[in-house]
Amino acid sequence: ASMASMAASVHQLRVRNQRTPRGASSNKSRLGFAALGLASAAVWVGLRGHLTGPPAPLALAESATSELAFVLPLASGQYGILQCPSVRSSSQVARLAGYDAVPGGKPVADEDEVPMEQKKVRLRPGEETESMQFDRVAKKIRWLKQLKGKFVPVGAKPWNKHAFTKVCMQVRLMPKQAANTKIINQVTEELRRITGMHPRVVKAKHNVAKLGWRIGDNCGVAVSLFGPKMYDFLERMNTIILPRVRDFEGIYPNSIDNFGNFWMSLDSQEPFKELDELIDQRELVHSFDIGILNNCMTQPDGLALMQGYGFPFGETRPRKVKTKVKSFEKKKVEVKKRVRLAAGLGAKMCLFMKVQVTFPGRCCCCSFLLLVSALVAVAAIVAGLWVEELKLFRNSAPGVQWVNWSGEFGCSNSVAIERPKRLQELQNVVRKYRSVRAAANGHSFNTFACPADPADGVVVDMREFNRIEVTIPPRAKCASCADGEPIEVKAEAGISLAQLQNELLARGLTLRLVPPDGVGRSLASSVGGCIATGCHHLGQSLAQDLLAMTLVQHDGSLREVKRGDPDFPAAAVSMGRLGIIHSVTLEVLPYRSLQWWAEQQPIPTTSKIIDHLRNMTRRQMSRDSGANKLVFYLAIGVMMSEHWVPMGRETKVTEIHTQESGSIIEPYEDPQVFRVGQGSLSAGIAAIRQEAFALTPRWLLSLLQVPVEMAIRELHSSPLLSGLRKALRWQHAPEEAQGDVSAKSGGNQYTWAAWADDVMSFALGLRQIEVIFPLDPEDQAGRCLDAVLAHQHLALWRIDVHSQQSEDFPLSSTFGAGGKPVQFLRVAFVGPGPLLDLPSGEASLTEHLRRDCPGWRRHWGKGLWGSTQERWGEPSQFLKVAARWDPSGKFKPKSQPSWLD
Ligand SMILES: Cc1cc2nc3c(=O)[nH]c(=O)nc-3n(C[C@H](O)[C@H](O)[C@H](O)COP(=O)(O)OP(=O)(O)OC[C@H]3O[C@@H](n4cnc5c(N)ncnc54)[C@H](O)[C@@H]3O)c2cc1C
Repeated sequence: ASMASMAASVHQLRVRNQRTPRGASSNKSRLGFAALGLASAAVWVGLRGHLTGPPAPLALAESATSELAFVLPLASGQYGILQCPSVRSSSQVARLAGYDAVPGGKPVADEDEVPMEQKKVRLRPGEETESMQFDRVAKKIRWLKQLKGKFVPVGAKPWNKHAFTKVCMQVRLMPKQAANTKIINQVTEELRRITGMHPRVVKAKHNVAKLGWRIGDNCGVAVSLFGPKMYDFLERMNTIILPRVRDFEGIYPNSIDNFGNFWMSLDSQEPFKELDELIDQRELVHSFDIGILNNCMTQPDGLALMQGYGFPFGETRPRKVKTKVKSFEKKKVEVKKRVRLAAGLGAKMCLFMKVQVTFPGRCCCCSFLLLVSALVAVAAIVAGLWVEELKLFRNSAPGVQWVNWSGEFGCSNSVAIERPKRLQELQNVVRKYRSVRAAANGHSFNTFACPADPADGVVVDMREFNRIEVTIPPRAKCASCADGEPIEVKAEAGISLAQLQNELLARGLTLRLVPPDGVGRSLASSVGGCIATGCHHLGQSLAQDLLAMTLVQHDGSLREVKRGDPDFPAAAVSMGRLGIIHSVTLEVLPYRSLQWWAEQQPIPTTSKIIDHLRNMTRRQMSRDSGANKLVFYLAIGVMMSEHWVPMGRETKVTEIHTQESGSIIEPYEDPQVFRVGQGSLSAGIAAIRQEAFALTPRWLLSLLQVPVEMAIRELHSSPLLSGLRKALRWQHAPEEAQGDVSAKSGGNQYTWAAWADDVMSFALGLRQIEVIFPLDPEDQAGRCLDAVLAHQHLALWRIDVHSQQSEDFPLSSTFGAGGKPVQFLRVAFVGPGPLLDLPSGEASLTEHLRRDCPGWRRHWGKGLWGSTQERWGEPSQFLKVAARWDPSGKFKPKSQPSWLD
């Protein structure tokens, strides 16, 4: 072999010599070339493996079949084997090139060779079947052989030993991102750290309308690796990077192209350990494209080379089926057909009305007009009644009952409603009544806001208490540092979270985990209600940021309790049992952008879901991401995981203040248009709702779930709807928070999305259900999850799962008894009230949970408070505090569980 290679190199020299000018060839140069040839032959013989083949990982040394093996002393004092993968003896290319391993016989197939599936699929442009690839190579070999003695083009030859030639790594950027120097610097630094090479900024060579690239604009950053650096990267990729990829199930064999080159994309910086320390300065979460190029020329050989090197291959990725785009002409014909159908239907209706509605002497159109007028009149009457009921509630006329936000839960008519404006008035109200409960925006789905004694009871509406006071210490804690003093906001209990966040944004601050444009309707809860019920957002509880609070006690006196006081844990989540919260002091952060992104996949098995949740929890705890959420669209079988990553960068106040329009953040006003429930109108609507759900067959409801889920998912992921939502100022879905946009928050507003939420909630009597259970033990958590998923017919449009760490507040639904922190899962969904009231609804879910999910809990602010009385936390500890603070039981609610009595 060495003689052959020497001959080949001499031949190459001759070929090159022929190209040199005659005058330049001298004896001296001939001698020089000959020496060079001999030297190169020696090097070839000695270091063949090193130069032409990659060193296979030592772990694979035994299994690999190779021509050359070196025994190397290792740093540990032991010996290891370094082997070089060879051209596969069974490869068709090897045979074609005359390298058959079994002379005269057919090559034996490799054991680990993965047969490429030869399905009958229509080839796309540029695609080749396996036989086409080998034909192409055979043709090239024939052509190269006939060139013997003439000029032979440089580059890889089919008979060369298969080896990796180059690794390309690139990050593609959108024009807006590529124009941002900070992002370019960030990506450059990341690639430099990953590869050890300084990358280059790539400029677009073509206009690409889809991506918004124009010729000459920056469009990404790229780097190419060769030689030892390349092998070093491949080694790391196999041993460190790929195992860190979330839910990694092996790389796809069909990511190898017709020429044996492999391309893959990594979603984020997460798999690269070397980038962990840059997480706080990160401006953008982006994907990486990685190309591993070789000289194989066919897909099976590329696959074998990569398998030989030890890359973990998984299943073949299913082929994407392209939906056929109908031609414009066909569409036009279809539209015409539909118009004709509609016209026909209209005509038929007119005829029907003519026959049915016998208005003497009236024409069809007149009948139609009459019908429309009747409908308008009914609508006007309903609107009138509506406005009247709303007015009754707002003016708290005598005999009016306190209702929750959707008018579904009410205290009795005998319970008074008081709306104090100042602290003194509040204290007087507490002294005046025997039974007192506070309430604000009514976002709870139970009657905890009602007093136990309806005869001498009052609901205190706290919405007039909505002032805030911010204290920024001289050495304030920044968003990414642990030291410094906390920035504090003292907020009165009646202010909504959305308004509080808007006020904070206007000062360059933020609540810890609220995306820039909020998380929809849930931020309409008041600060007092939220603290009382232990509410949470994106898996973080507000009580974690609570530093102090003042409460009006049973005798009307004011009491302050601070973090560190013995009674603080009981007061932090108290359900309003210790007194009326007047104000709370919370720790807030300098505003920093949160980046949001999401991935979708078909719903996997329960054990895989639990694995996913475990990963999610790990990321949350290691600060890889600030918050995560798993969303199940059960009817269409989609699981979506969403992530929020704090960028660490503190945004300047001016950046938040001035949006593109130049306006400042407006206050948040929630009109609460459905706070009816005072009279015949509400009773009528509730009865219709009840009947409609009772009569509609289950299969029809299940059938309806599919379009509803699809619409909701589209609302979150379709770029078209995203544009529409932006135009309408729907800040409901968070994809506006992607990338740099998040630095210019517009604040929370009552938008069309909130309006749509309200209408749906009112029309269907929607209720929020939230079930909480620990993530460990795993099989137990799986059974709990199965119990909820088995009630998919109740979850109208999706199920959300958050993971949250335990807290030591005795009444918190994520109470964990000291010691090691426990991770809890919060499974929440929205279901129509009438459906939940059926035996297959809440009752069945509760029964399943009792049977399969011991230790499950409920959220104090949400539904599922019917019949069951499971206890959790440390009720005895809480009751001791309650007995001291409220000896007469003044703040007891109407329907608390018996274990809290
Ligand atoms: C659409 C929607 C989405 C929601 N999303 C979430 C969510 O993501 N996460 C979550 O945790 N919860 C969520 N909830 C539940 C909600 O956060 C809680 O029910 C919260 O308590 C509602 O606050 P509120 O001001 O509306 O209180 P209300 O319903 O008026 O009162 C709630 C409870 O708190 C007590 N209370 C209120 N104010 C005081 C006070 N000043 N002093 C003492 N006690 C008081 C009341 O007595 C009552 O028991 C959601 C609710 C809705 C309607």
